[in-house]
Amino acid sequence: MTKKALIMGAGGFIGSHMVSRLNGEGYMTLGVDIKNPEFSDSNAHEFYLLDLTEKTNIDKILVEHEDITEIYQYAADMGGAGFIFTGDNDADIMHNSSLINLNLLRSLIENYSKKLPKVFYSSSACIYPEEIQESPNNPGLKESDAYPANPDSEYGWEKLFSERLYLSYMKNYKMDIKIARFHNIYGPNGTWDGGREKAPAAMCRKVAETKDGNIEVWGDGKQTRSFLFINDCIEATRRLMNSQVFEPINIGSEEMVSINQLVEIVSKIANKKIKINHIDGPLGVRGRNSENSLVREVLNWDYEYSLEDGIKITYEWISKQIIKS
Ligand code: NAD
Repeated sequence: MTKKALIMGAGGFIGSHMVSRLNGEGYMTLGVDIKNPEFSDSNAHEFYLLDLTEKTNIDKILVEHEDITEIYQYAADMGGAGFIFTGDNDADIMHNSSLINLNLLRSLIENYSKKLPKVFYSSSACIYPEEIQESPNNPGLKESDAYPANPDSEYGWEKLFSERLYLSYMKNYKMDIKIARFHNIYGPNGTWDGGREKAPAAMCRKVAETKDGNIEVWGDGKQTRSFLFINDCIEATRRLMNSQVFEPINIGSEEMVSINQLVEIVSKIANKKIKINHIDGPLGVRGRNSENSLVREVLNWDYEYSLEDGIKITYEWISKQIIKS
């Protein structure tokens, strides 16, 4: 029997990569998003342009396709620090993203007469408590660090609420649900301008665009993060889907760098001498890193791309987008 996957958020960065991966594995793919993919046509065999905050829209897909075997839920109102940490978008982030998750789960229970599909939910490192991320030398966030909860953003609180929502459906409706806490995923086809872009794409764009070598960085640039290349993220997610792991798990890199070091890596790849001007801006926590003991043990997975290798591919792609724009 052909495996059939529904990818929610297939017009976005990670969703579009998952569509390609599943096509390559012989799946029949259905994509849905409120927007078309920005950088190329969707590879999904069928693509629905629908607003998933309307439950009738997800009902429509599930009624039409009663034989979906896997669902990948990436759809969310999200962006980088400039979108999440200003506070200006909090109500929309919480309202829209929660509704999408509530609608999916309720619609599955109401409409699916056949075997319920396996569901993947993309949570985030933003669920971890603020007070254990105050030092740039973060020792790595373990899955068990999540509670007592105190995420530093409403985006993180929504993710934590939705993790618990999925876990409740797993408990009460015997659903097979997988939850990953992604730590800063980057790579080609990711948003690189417009205000929702994340640090790796923003730094690549700034370095590629500068004529005089000056770029702006929010804060002192000593805040730390780890960044995971998209191919590693997709591989880990596929392993999680095929596993017997039923608890939220980190999918991230342990190669922690400061934003200043990230700029150094980009400028080396671009072969440009860069001067950083530090300006005020939304920052998020002071230090964040993934701790991968559990994921290594239960999925036998580790990241393969160094930050430099991944940024090289991303920088080349963003440079081409700038020329095209
Ligand atoms: P993205 O913004 O590129 O993709 C999300 C997609 O959801 C977008 O295409 C958007 O149009 C779609 N969407 C938003 N509202 C919708 C609606 N009402 N109806 C239908 N579609 C809607 O983001 P991404 O980087 O691909 O992230 C995918 C998921 O992974 C998100 O849930 C995000 O929170 C999570 N995540 C991502 C990262 C990361 O570093 N990229 C880190 C942690 C968690």
